[in-house]
Amino acid sequence: MTDFAELNLAAPILRALADEKYTVPTPIQAQAIPHALAGRDILGLAQTGTGKTAAFALPILHRLADAGRRPDPKTCRALILSPTRELASQIAESFRAYGRHQHMSIATVFGGVSFRPQAERLKRGVDILVATPGRLIDHLDQGTLILDKVEILVLDEADQMLDMGFVHAIRRIAKVLPKKRQSLFFSATMPRAIGQLAGELLHEPVEVAVTPVASTVKKIDQQVIFVETARKRHVLVELLREEGSGRTLIFTRTKHGANHVAEHLEANGIPAGAIHGNKSQGQRERALAGFRDGSVKVLVATDIAARGIDVDDVTHVINFDLPNVAESYVHRIGRTARAGASGIAISFCDGEERPFLRAIESLIREKIATTDRRLPPGSPMPRPAVSERPAQPHPKGRSNRQPPRGPGKSAEFRGDGAGAAAGPRAHAPGKRPQPAGRGAAPHANGPAAAAQKPARFNRQKPGSSPR
Ligand code: AMP
Repeated sequence: MTDFAELNLAAPILRALADEKYTVPTPIQAQAIPHALAGRDILGLAQTGTGKTAAFALPILHRLADAGRRPDPKTCRALILSPTRELASQIAESFRAYGRHQHMSIATVFGGVSFRPQAERLKRGVDILVATPGRLIDHLDQGTLILDKVEILVLDEADQMLDMGFVHAIRRIAKVLPKKRQSLFFSATMPRAIGQLAGELLHEPVEVAVTPVASTVKKIDQQVIFVETARKRHVLVELLREEGSGRTLIFTRTKHGANHVAEHLEANGIPAGAIHGNKSQGQRERALAGFRDGSVKVLVATDIAARGIDVDDVTHVINFDLPNVAESYVHRIGRTARAGASGIAISFCDGEERPFLRAIESLIREKIATTDRRLPPGSPMPRPAVSERPAQPHPKGRSNRQPPRGPGKSAEFRGDGAGAAAGPRAHAPGKRPQPAGRGAAPHANGPAAAAQKPARFNRQKPGSSPR
């Protein structure tokens, strides 16, 4: 696949892609779009950063425009379910950007903001509705939304939805959807529970799976610093004060932890925002906006809040606490080195966290290098290799993401399947989908060899945590 024109997308969509300066489809787009345009259900194994939003947004915009209908009052024609409000907003922005030359109505529905304006908006009906499951159910219960006209359903970040306990909400929503519909299902991982849910929602899906190319993988310089808990904040301040820190995302395991770290940094003269589930929508948006526009270089986040944050040019990811689920590590460090840039991931590890570190190293099949923090004060923070992408405002105004440019990026976004772990596979009619990507090891950071084994399906069960 060399360019978007070969995908037979409608002219207004091609114009929008040209505005975005997208030249070639990413592997997930090249694989998924033809099947989605043909009306097939899709089971996609792809992480954020692979271009999966456009992989479902472009065919939806094409198909809805083709049908030429308008939405009935209180209904939507395409329903996109997202685990978090941040991701829902970003998906809606992507639809607006890719659909800017069409007349599609796009709305979002999520918690943390007033219900009434959403209900008012739904009264007229919308073409594309992006929603989090909880608030969507509220609208169904209040009768402000009816889902019997949905033509296309998208479940994005399905694994995260399950982690967040949305499985019952999803099943309830599925019950009131028309049986005859197209369903597109995306997940970064494919544990058994996801395969099962996909089996319930999808009809003879085509499976597509991609893993970021090895060049991206190599661009994350991973390090671990063994430091006792009491000294973590001190070491963090030292690290951040040192020259070379760019846009830094810090992960803590708890919401309180995130607050404490952000407060400690502020107290030490390092402006920092915090983003987690206890923050109001307004607070989250302000923190994200500051991080995006560069006025706040440091953002402290919990895993769930950070999921779906789409900010490019994150130069450093710091795991203030190691995650107790090894896969979260892969998600966290995937926040840096996006779209061809390089990045550094530094993890603090205290004595009690060593079992987590071992679990991570076994998942990624790689030993993470140790950095000695008894270095003399003032030793420079490791710098990422020269970024190929200077920070510039994004044309959509949502971040400074840019289309890949230069040889590094064109390699990454090469649509020749270089990043594809597995090509599309159609299911035999009536056959239940197997967990996608079996053997595809779609994780973001393992060495190429790691990509041979389905390491990320070895999810740690709740309760089996070493702590
Ligand atoms: P996503 O995985 O949907 O979060 O997309 C990751 C990033 O890639 C976003 O910043 C998109 O704007 C960008 N992107 C998506 N598709 C393309 C493409 N074909 N060419 C260049 N950039 C893209």
